[in-house]
Amino acid sequence: MTNSIPKTLKSLLGVSIPCPCGTAHTVDLRHALVERSALALLVPVVRSCDLGKRVTVVVDRVTHPLCGERVAQDLKAAGWDVLLFEVRDGEGGRPHATEQNVEFVRAALLGRDFAIAVGAGTINDLVKLASFHCGIPYLVVPTAPSMNGYASGIAAILSRGVKRTVTCHQPIGMVADLDIITAAPRHLICAGLGDLESKPTATADYRLSARLRGEAYCAVPEQVVLDAERRVADAAVEIGQGDPQAIAVLFEALVLSGISMKLAGSSSPASGGEHLLSHFWDMRAPMEGRVEGWHGAQVGVATLVTAALFEELSLLDPESIDFEALQSTRPNLAAQRDGALSRWAEHGKEVAGEVEAKYLNDEAQSTLLREVRDTWPQLWQSLSDVLRPSATIHGILRSAGAPTTMAQLGLERSHLVEALRHAREIRRRFTVLDLAFDLGVASLLEPRVLSRSAVLD
Ligand SMILES: [Zn+2]
Ligand SMILES: [Zn+2]
Repeated sequence: MTNSIPKTLKSLLGVSIPCPCGTAHTVDLRHALVERSALALLVPVVRSCDLGKRVTVVVDRVTHPLCGERVAQDLKAAGWDVLLFEVRDGEGGRPHATEQNVEFVRAALLGRDFAIAVGAGTINDLVKLASFHCGIPYLVVPTAPSMNGYASGIAAILSRGVKRTVTCHQPIGMVADLDIITAAPRHLICAGLGDLESKPTATADYRLSARLRGEAYCAVPEQVVLDAERRVADAAVEIGQGDPQAIAVLFEALVLSGISMKLAGSSSPASGGEHLLSHFWDMRAPMEGRVEGWHGAQVGVATLVTAALFEELSLLDPESIDFEALQSTRPNLAAQRDGALSRWAEHGKEVAGEVEAKYLNDEAQSTLLREVRDTWPQLWQSLSDVLRPSATIHGILRSAGAPTTMAQLGLERSHLVEALRHAREIRRRFTVLDLAFDLGVASLLEPRVLSRSAVLD
């Protein structure tokens, strides 16, 4: 089966893959150009999409002069009725994917036939969700290989202070000009690499949640993203040197990672415990008067941490865990809810809702623990082809010059410790953070994880 799965961008455009898992794996992205000078071919691509004559081009302060103006002018010259809309900068001198900005973009899309997002993560997410709300398609002109959301069917939006992934739609077309993408600032390229390097641990979490919590799982999306990640890991040095071919490999892998989420119908194959650590730091940022860091840079460092946690867990002797006592000593739902409410101030209700959704009743919890106890070697065997030592990931990130420490993210030891203890609360998704918690070994392993991940060095 895995050999017959289409794994290149070209072979995945517009596909519908019949699958024994019961999910209809479909890709709505139909047109994708990833090449040098691709912008010169924007008009024919838009024309072949056949979407009507009224278009809103959405840009930000940086992408407006970079290529947004040109996109608008080219379309105008070819006869389209073009409205150019610039999303305003927020904190840190850049725009953010907030609900308020979704509303602003939505207002600019009313009465239009389609939209074009010119930018990276934030602009793409805003236009993706706003166009979905308006019931119109959109295309994307990516400007940096900084994240994997271009072709996903979900948007990450800050909603009432909590990062939420909202299911919406994929772009119908993509015009990725490698001359623009390879010239992106270095920290954005490193962010893309960091996000991509999380895919093996995210996949391990994907398998773990299927095995222990019965969540949906399929090998198709997983193989698409893992195959792409391997090519990127092999090209890390060249990516760090800014080699255009290597950056093209990174960019295509990021797009494939987005497609894998669409194939899965969720972000599961691309977002595990490491993403929770990063989202945790983002949610804490306004509470601490801090500006959110770059998603992929944070995710790369967080991956070193969750990979180390996987390793430390796998080294445990299951005989040393008192499975009988775990059930009676675990904090009950009320205690976990109260903890979330007190920690998250005005976001307490949101987080408590996630805690509640994740909490298993005694019977289900004891089934889960029995499964872990009785199939310990099989559990680790089932993850062995995807788990990588933290040190190996460290080597990949470092060889490209991507951040590997909390200090490089502008974060401290306390951010790491807090996230390790509480990031599991912010989303209902089961990850390695929950496995450590459920086995009652989270605090025992904490110092070893900090040391093995080397992110405080
Ligand atoms: Zn399937
Ligand atoms: Zn990500």
